[in-house]
Amino acid sequence: MNNIPKSLIEIKSAIVSGSLSCAKLVDQYLQNIEEQKDLNVFISLFDNEARERASEIDEKIKNGTAGKLAGAVITVKDVISVKDKLLTCGSKMLSNFTTVYSATVINRLLKEDAIIIGKVNCDEFAMGSSNENSFFGPVKNPIDKTRVPGGSSGASAVSVAANMCLMSLGSETGGSIRQPASFCGITGLKVTYGRISRFGLVAFASSFDSIGIFGNNNSDIGLMLEVIAGHDDRDSTSSETEVGNYSVQSQNKLEAVKTTIGFAKEYFEEGLNEEIKTGVLAKIEVLRNKGFKIKEISLPHTKYVIQTYYILTSAEASSNLSRFDGVRYGYRSDESAVLEDMYVNSRSEGFGEEVKRRIMLGTYVLSAGYYDAYYRKAQKVRRLIMNDFENAFNEVDFIISPTTPDTAFRLGEKIEDPLSMYLNDIYTASVNLAGIPAISIPSGKDRNGLPFGIQVMGRKFDEEGLLRIWNELGS
Ligand code: GLN
Repeated sequence: MNNIPKSLIEIKSAIVSGSLSCAKLVDQYLQNIEEQKDLNVFISLFDNEARERASEIDEKIKNGTAGKLAGAVITVKDVISVKDKLLTCGSKMLSNFTTVYSATVINRLLKEDAIIIGKVNCDEFAMGSSNENSFFGPVKNPIDKTRVPGGSSGASAVSVAANMCLMSLGSETGGSIRQPASFCGITGLKVTYGRISRFGLVAFASSFDSIGIFGNNNSDIGLMLEVIAGHDDRDSTSSETEVGNYSVQSQNKLEAVKTTIGFAKEYFEEGLNEEIKTGVLAKIEVLRNKGFKIKEISLPHTKYVIQTYYILTSAEASSNLSRFDGVRYGYRSDESAVLEDMYVNSRSEGFGEEVKRRIMLGTYVLSAGYYDAYYRKAQKVRRLIMNDFENAFNEVDFIISPTTPDTAFRLGEKIEDPLSMYLNDIYTASVNLAGIPAISIPSGKDRNGLPFGIQVMGRKFDEEGLLRIWNELGS
């Protein structure tokens, strides 16, 4: 394994000093990828293309014309379009589907000379918390290969944790960046709804989905964020809110006496691993000792988060996934004599168990007889959950909690029990229901050496604050 520097600043200074080049860097990552093939991270590897691009960028560096992300080698979750490449979403349905355009985030990254080394595995259509729901097989946690890396952006987290790239793009609907970041001991940022364009991201639940970033430190994540964030004419849900100079702002200290940190008791109740609880409470004490004000708050509707999240996201998914009918995209069953059978067979054979479960649940809660009892009711509870956060952020600047109730579980442990799998999202899904930003930062390890994260939630569009508070948490 090559021991590649874990920050862009170090990589850039090694390039300037002549001890490294983008070409060498890509070769080293490719070697790390090859040596850790058993983790099952990549769906498509762009080895030759990445090497060629690296040489071009080395030239640009010599000429002084390189972009901000020269030296940053990244992976992309396979739910985001990269022109002329496979876009599988971890599904048999799209296993042979090649896209004709790039997502806005990809165009913005390439413009600043990032190198995309490949597209990585994930739960099918981003549905899952373990990366076991992939047509391309499960991904393994590099810290303990008998365990899951989390999901749905599991392979994105592994690619960063196992030094196969510097940063990765993932997506979130209910915790799919923060939970795998926590399980793999790295940092994951979920941005405010609308902060990053979703043009070119395959939709799961459109009122929840956002693209986000995995990385090792706040200046790297800040830099990537300032490149990809901001309004996009091709995504009407992308915000016009000004984009910060996050790579620089992330280094500014927070003024402790002027900052209040909320501690919601609902996030520390039954079901939380004792070691995680102790670890997160210890971090809160660190902040208190630095002079931050710590205030106990209440988010009273927390107990409804999982039910509300799964009703609403399944409803939206059942609608979004109706486009995969065997005609317009991807897989078509050739067993059918009549058109209707072709739809049914293509969808029955093309989708995996979990995706079918969500389509059925979503169709049910939207059906005429049950719409009021489930879908409409869940919409109302979503508003109450949003109000909880609005009230809380009148009193505090940040809210701190564990990211996950437990550390990485074993492969196969929860796959037969969807409810226990869904409970993994208990501390993360509320953030997506409310549309606020949150970050998971490595916070410690349990007695088995498995990492866990601390989650910091912020006000809408306060990504800067989340990157700044990282400096105080000491990792
Ligand atoms: N684990 C959650 C789910 O299965 C979150 C998924 C996500 O954020 N994409 O829905």
